[in-house]
Amino acid sequence: MVRKLMNNKLPRYFEEFNNNLWSVEDDRDNMKLYYRVKEILSTRISPFQQVNIIDTYDFGRCLVLDGVMQTTELDGYIYNEMISHIPAITHPNPSKALIIGGGDCGVANELIKYPELLEIDMVEIDEVVVEECVAKLTKISGNAPRDNRVKFHFTDGVKFVKDKKGLYDIAIVDSSDPIGPAEVLFSEEFYVDLKDSLKDEGVMVCQSQSPIFNKDILSRTHHILKRHFPIVKTYKAVVPSYPGGMWSFTLASLVYDPLNANLAKLALNTSYINSGVFQASFSLPNFMCDDLGIL
Ligand code: SAM
Repeated sequence: MVRKLMNNKLPRYFEEFNNNLWSVEDDRDNMKLYYRVKEILSTRISPFQQVNIIDTYDFGRCLVLDGVMQTTELDGYIYNEMISHIPAITHPNPSKALIIGGGDCGVANELIKYPELLEIDMVEIDEVVVEECVAKLTKISGNAPRDNRVKFHFTDGVKFVKDKKGLYDIAIVDSSDPIGPAEVLFSEEFYVDLKDSLKDEGVMVCQSQSPIFNKDILSRTHHILKRHFPIVKTYKAVVPSYPGGMWSFTLASLVYDPLNANLAKLALNTSYINSGVFQASFSLPNFMCDDLGIL
């Protein structure tokens, strides 16, 4: 077994037992997720978090921040396609996009599939995440780092959007969980600034957590966005490496309804999304409709 030691100790968030190494996600008091690790490819402590790239038995290479699984080679494409292609075609002719977070570059790598997008501003607080993913998670970061439409801004997304007015056709909030540096990305003040950064016909999407385990966050996000946008739609996908599997995204739009999107515009080189998946993702189970107050 190969492992990286820090001061002769395993880095935080790793455990060893029965001669196996495990990455441990402490999701909540009563649930921990264990991933069996082949190799810790890197461990760095940035000013914001512990950044790990690990190689695992079942999920391939993964990005883990402060012990929390962010994206994996096995299923990262599901999340990245669902959060990117849906806004990209809900807006009929987007030319300028904003990504907040998204340090693994998976979202940027989906957006560059749309030639009509001429500028993609990617605002990631932690340069170390991008450095590590560009070097070691190339299956996910893909061509985005070398596409000259993608401009990296290493700063807090909340600060970045404050003075941006009417600039973007689409904005995607690809944040980590609402603890640590990403907590502010779930606040009403941030969503209002993000709305102001959009053009008059803009569309935004955020990841709104598990509809099973994070009902409060999903419902709060949905209702905050409803106060500021005329069209708000939550949609879902199954991402096995996120706690509970089922994951939610919430789209807010100033003019365009995703259910009227021209599905023929979907990029062809995808592994998950197609026109049927696009439409079906907006059909929510009864418990989600109840939680969100959708009749
Ligand atoms: N797909 C993932 C998920 O749902 O778990 C999110 C992955 S992505 C790597 C999240 C990124 O958001 C991280 O790289 C983190 O550094 C970044 N981030 C957190 N807070 C931020 C902030 N305030 N401004 C910009 N980026 C932020």
